[in-house]
Parts: sequence; structure tokens; C-alpha cells
Amino acid sequence: MYQQIFELHTDILKALSHPKRLEIIHLLRDQSLSVRQIQDMLGLPQANLSQHLQILRENQVVITSKKGKQIFYKVSNPKLLKACDLIREVLLDRYENSNMKDDLGKDLSDLLPVGIDPICGMKLTPETAAYAFEFQNTTHYFCASGCLEKYKSSRHCEEQGDVAIQEQSLSCRT
Ligand SMILES: [Zn+2]
Repeated sequence: MYQQIFELHTDILKALSHPKRLEIIHLLRDQSLSVRQIQDMLGLPQANLSQHLQILRENQVVITSKKGKQIFYKVSNPKLLKACDLIREVLLDRYENSNMKDDLGKDLSDLLPVGIDPICGMKLTPETAAYAFEFQNTTHYFCASGCLEKYKSSRHCEEQGDVAIQEQSLSCRT
């Protein structure tokens, strides 16, 4: 049994030991996501993503649930997130006196991609998204270089007086 404990422990760590799989876990921190949503956020080819998801699922790091035709992924146990956070704290200690410290110490939710700019395809985080724009009950995010204006004119948003349009500046922390 004694040896088996370490082997079981290794299985979980193996499932975690890839930057993309750690990123997937990070994306699933506070939400469940479909394969499509994860794919959009990571910008990975689907075959590649499927492989990573399979490894995570086989080792029960993530679990799936079905909503309609879509399959959603979530982290099976929040303690796994705590384990990842602890390792990150080790990194913080290690890089305490280097210029990487600020990046490592950032609230990880600031680094989460919130979506893709539908015009230029840029992956946006709450930090880099300049605008959030709600159109037909979906919130879209845009960069700071005029994509929101292009989006509006291509959708003829200005003419549609009956559509509730909310425009808000996201707080841009630098
Ligand atoms: Zn853009």
C-alpha cells in the first residue's frame, strides 16, 4: 500500500504536468465550459485539445456534464485548484527578488481570457479588453483599436432602436 500511495499521487501530478492542461484548469476555475469555449480561449487545434481533455478526464481532474447536445467541463474537486495555487505560491517565493514577481503575484482572474474580439480575433482578458458591448443578450469584448465601431456598423446597431445597447468601459488597470 505504501508504494501505491505514491503511484496514485504521481498519476494526478502527471495529469497536471503540461502547461496547456494547467491553463485549462485555470480557465475552469470558476466556471464550466464547453470544448468550443475552451478551444476559443486557448487557441488550440481541436485534436490537440481533445487529447489534453481526455488525460484530465481519465485522471478525474475534470468531470463532464451534458446540457442539451453540449458537453461541459468542470474541475472535479476544488482542492485541485488549491493545489495549483500552492505551487504558484512556491513560484512567488522563488522569484521574490526578480522582475517576474509582479506578474506571478497578479490576481489570476485578471489573466483569464474573457473572450475573443469578434472583429480582429484578439484574445482578450479583463485587463486588455477595452470595451464590453451587449448585443442581443450576448456580451462581446473588443480591443482598443476601433473594432467596436466596426462591429456596430456591420451589425447596423445604431439603426436598431429597439435593441438595448449597453456600452461600458471595463476598468483598464495597467
Ligand atoms: Zn480588435
